[in-house]
Amino acid sequence: MKGLGIIILSLELRKNNAIFLKLQLSLMTYDDNNIFAKILRAEIPCKKIYEDDFVLSFHDINPQKKIHALVIPKGKYIDLDDFSANASAEEIVGLIKGINYVAKKLGMSSDIGKGYRALANINEYGGQEVPHLHFHLFGGERVGKMVE
Ligand code: 5GP
Repeated sequence: MKGLGIIILSLELRKNNAIFLKLQLSLMTYDDNNIFAKILRAEIPCKKIYEDDFVLSFHDINPQKKIHALVIPKGKYIDLDDFSANASAEEIVGLIKGINYVAKKLGMSSDIGKGYRALANINEYGGQEVPHLHFHLFGGERVGKMVE
């Protein structure tokens, strides 16, 4: 659920061995019952395209273009801002590489295909419906200048 505040206290060891108390304030919390969390836990099915340690990719249930794939990180991140601020470098690389791998697998990447659109909706004004970060990959045809 968004809008709840949580405070995380942790101990951090710095170079000079001094111990600092780290105070982290997060204004959002992740909803473990969102539909993509359930797909990740295999509680509901999906048409899987690709999976590795960092991402899961599957076809959108309501495709808007000839090809409409979703790529989601395995970690619990609400949106791209949450991911950018809190994911590890490994997770960030894993997601970007995962998008490219899926695009290749679907024959859409620039090296073997004609391209595609990668799009992430963020929060209310971005029109995000599922509060687990996901990239839409639209392709298989010209997708136009904008997606409505
Ligand atoms: P958003 O509007 O949050 O960016 O996109 C959410 C997407 O998730 C939509 O395109 C919607 O069709 C898709 N979606 C919602 N529920 C399911 C589901 O249960 N399975 C799959 N594969 N896609 C879903």
